[in-house]
Amino acid sequence: MANAEFGTVFFSEMTLASFDGEKWSDASFVPSDRLPMHPAAHVLHYASTCFEGMKAFRANDGAINVFRIDDHIRRMQNSARSLYLPVPDAAQLKSMIIDVLKKFQDQVPVFPGSAYIRPTLIGTDPAIGRAAAPTRTALLYILVSPVGDYFAADAKMRVLLDTDNQRCAPHFGNVKSGGNYASALGLIQKAKEKYNTAQVIFAPNGDVQETGAANCLLINDTEILTKPLNSEFLPGVTRDSLLKAGAKLGYKVTERNISADELMEWIKTGEVALSGTAAVLAPVGEIVYKDETYAVNGGKEPVNAKRLRKYLNDVQQGLETDSFNWVTKI
Ligand SMILES: *Cc1c(COP(=O)(O)O)cnc(C)c1O
Repeated sequence: MANAEFGTVFFSEMTLASFDGEKWSDASFVPSDRLPMHPAAHVLHYASTCFEGMKAFRANDGAINVFRIDDHIRRMQNSARSLYLPVPDAAQLKSMIIDVLKKFQDQVPVFPGSAYIRPTLIGTDPAIGRAAAPTRTALLYILVSPVGDYFAADAKMRVLLDTDNQRCAPHFGNVKSGGNYASALGLIQKAKEKYNTAQVIFAPNGDVQETGAANCLLINDTEILTKPLNSEFLPGVTRDSLLKAGAKLGYKVTERNISADELMEWIKTGEVALSGTAAVLAPVGEIVYKDETYAVNGGKEPVNAKRLRKYLNDVQQGLETDSFNWVTKI
């Protein structure tokens, strides 16, 4: 597992429930390597799908700590509503997550590993005529992947600041749905080919939003600065956690729009980091802007990003007081 690509190894079973057009079935354990689905399934043609990504950690005391489970469940319900998919029942979804973790708890790795939890909801109507209508039936399942550390602790990313393109349709950026990733993929790939960048910070018309799969935070010794939530980008649970942790640690937390020019000015003396469940907070080392490469903060250690990341990691492992009630012990 230690050497496997992130997210390619799974618990042998997952919990699954189905919606028959009227109600959710009871959940059951099923093998995690197959899915009964018609080739005409709504999701395969019209992308009626959303997912979540959260983590469970093996705490110091041996317990399994799930991080912000209720917030992820709420966000999945919001995504389902946006896609006119049947909205999962919060209590059932929570039990499905906890039940599969309990059954395979021996396979939750020790820190810095974790169990990456991927609740997935898909529309299954076998009806290719329903292009402009919602699916009536759906499947909900909880895949779990034991994972190692997503990034080497000191990896510093090279990213493109792109002021020409948008990650996805602006009314849909807050929905955690596969279609948005499909929309960004070609742009990220082209940047990789042209500039050897790992990611793209999308800043359409100069408005700094986020990367393909992570939120963007500007950090220095005194302040954390990021864009306020709107429909154009994903409301990250990690972003929210870092803003709350940052305020507690004494940083001034500011949510306001940031222009590409301001970002480029900021990196002369400040850090930029990308936040998400997989990596928590990954420092950006270099930014490519208008065909030139700029080192972030003179190439200095991203001490503030590391400090914030450590705070979250410590809460997740039970080494730091859980002041915000983020952890659910199973
Ligand atoms: C999931 C995701 C994030 C990060 O959200 P977290 O809740 O922090 O994991 C950021 N941007 C996009 C586009 C995402 O899909």
